[in-house]
Amino acid sequence: KSPTKGGIRYSEMVNEDEVMALAALMTYKCAIVNVPFGGAKGGIKINPKEYTISELENITRRYTVELMKKNFIGPAIDVPAPDYGSGEREMSWIADTYQTMNPGQLDALGCVTGKPIALHGIAGRKEATGRGVAIAVRECVDIAEDMKKLGLSPGLSGKRVIVQGLGNVGYHTIKYLTEFGATVVGICEFEGAIYNSSGLNLDEVFNHRKSTGSILGFSGAQKEFKNTAEGLEQECDILVPAALENQITMDNVANIKAKIIAEAANGPTTPDAAAFLIKRGCILIPDMYCNAGGVTVSYFEWLKNLSHVAFGRMDKRYEENANLNLVNMVEKITGVSLDPIQRSMIIKGASELELVNSGLEDTMIRSYHEIRDVQMNNPKIDGLRTAAFVSSIDKVAVSYMNMGIWP
Ligand code: GLU
Repeated sequence: KSPTKGGIRYSEMVNEDEVMALAALMTYKCAIVNVPFGGAKGGIKINPKEYTISELENITRRYTVELMKKNFIGPAIDVPAPDYGSGEREMSWIADTYQTMNPGQLDALGCVTGKPIALHGIAGRKEATGRGVAIAVRECVDIAEDMKKLGLSPGLSGKRVIVQGLGNVGYHTIKYLTEFGATVVGICEFEGAIYNSSGLNLDEVFNHRKSTGSILGFSGAQKEFKNTAEGLEQECDILVPAALENQITMDNVANIKAKIIAEAANGPTTPDAAAFLIKRGCILIPDMYCNAGGVTVSYFEWLKNLSHVAFGRMDKRYEENANLNLVNMVEKITGVSLDPIQRSMIIKGASELELVNSGLEDTMIRSYHEIRDVQMNNPKIDGLRTAAFVSSIDKVAVSYMNMGIWP
């Protein structure tokens, strides 16, 4: 049997109900993107900003020992990952604690994902959730039939996006959406929000916030709002809440202008606000699919840890030599020779990052169509979230039935 999986959250809002709800969400999330894990979640009820690095290390290591005492962590038991308030640093402490306490366990580093590359992490994991969100949005807007219903043209080019959250997920979502041709017109953080109808430069905004401690006062903004909630209500086509849960509620949903809401965070839309948006004809790309790029690449990292070799290490050079022979032969037969740029493009073997990104892209595209098909084939299903639930619960049920466990 494969392990369970989910992030460990460091936040003052952590409570048992939240952990249980997020663990259930992980079960559906893994099923949707065909990641063979059960759902789990962890949480430490602290504000990490109020602790020194060595205090955080102490807390994280002690937490890991407690997990071990209960048999709640291990490459075949439960494999945590980063979540709100945690990152590569915390995952390193967890990996090191687990490895130290389990001498001789060859697969020990597969006990946690989201580790830095130097500690057997995988290229592309940090960017994965944001990249996955951008691919999900691109897939959604590329379907002409669905865009027509919203009164939008197909394609990301020129689409106006507002993103809430400039953390790891928000940052990378903005980065890749911009790369894919969208215009990010608004960015919201807890201290306020900024807006520019011709687009905001991600790195300039990021550096401004890093040096001044606030998103406000950015010279490239046309408008700014001290009340961050106002930022969500500005003109745009796509709204991406990439921060915390319960951000779109009955109190503000009527003011939201976006026609597409991509849930990069877990649970950012309350159920009644989601129903309101669907009734209005919006497309809501649900969290359990939209942000599943993170757990997808975590799965690749776990596979890498179990096989003890980086993706591409065995075959990159072989592939390049085979391509080289082919190009040489084609050039000889045709008498046409390629220029050096074309040559190196064709010959190049895939790196770990390219393989990870290819696996991530394929997963996100395939899963989008899987849930959209469920919706299209059942008129009773009112949106992608219900479709995602139907699809994932089906998969979970089939796997229980195959094991001989009937409800
Ligand atoms: N915390 C992330 C999530 O909620 C990542 C989980 C993982 O990689 O296991 O999906």
